[in-house]
Amino acid sequence: MAVLSLRLYPDPLLKSPSVEVPRITGAIEQHIRDMIESMHAFPRCVGLAAPQVGIPLRIAVVDVSKHPKTKHHHGLIVLVNPQLLEGSGERLVREGCASVPDYTGNVQRFEKVVISAWNERGRSLTLRAEGFEAVALQHELDHLNGLLFLDRLAPQDLFPRKRYGRFRRPHPGSQ
Ligand code: ZN
Repeated sequence: MAVLSLRLYPDPLLKSPSVEVPRITGAIEQHIRDMIESMHAFPRCVGLAAPQVGIPLRIAVVDVSKHPKTKHHHGLIVLVNPQLLEGSGERLVREGCASVPDYTGNVQRFEKVVISAWNERGRSLTLRAEGFEAVALQHELDHLNGLLFLDRLAPQDLFPRKRYGRFRRPHPGSQ
């Protein structure tokens, strides 16, 4: 296991669509373990996509269970080759991203989503999520398509992250 180094905006890998995983191999399993460890090591990180740690593959991990905004969640989620099947409802959400540490922004997202993917063993799964977890999932799927939250907002909806002393404000989580 290893904590991987984080790619920061404007690293070109963050703007590139990632490649499908053809099958689960030992190397893919290792990537997933390292991504989980990295997500839990980065402060307030509730999701991580493989290109954020230099891996140009369609893999994401999400865990919003410890975030104060969370009401409903599935705990740790591993998604390989995820696809958004359905989205419904709308909400404007203040988002942050570990790869864009100095800003947050108001982004329009679906309130509820249905996502299909493989899990870490290559089994197909269908996930229904809502609220903060649904937003985190949409944010990570964007990363796999080379999109950042910066690409989804108007300039007036971008805000410098406020800092209080040595600590950043606790909301929103970084994804
Ligand atoms: Zn992000």
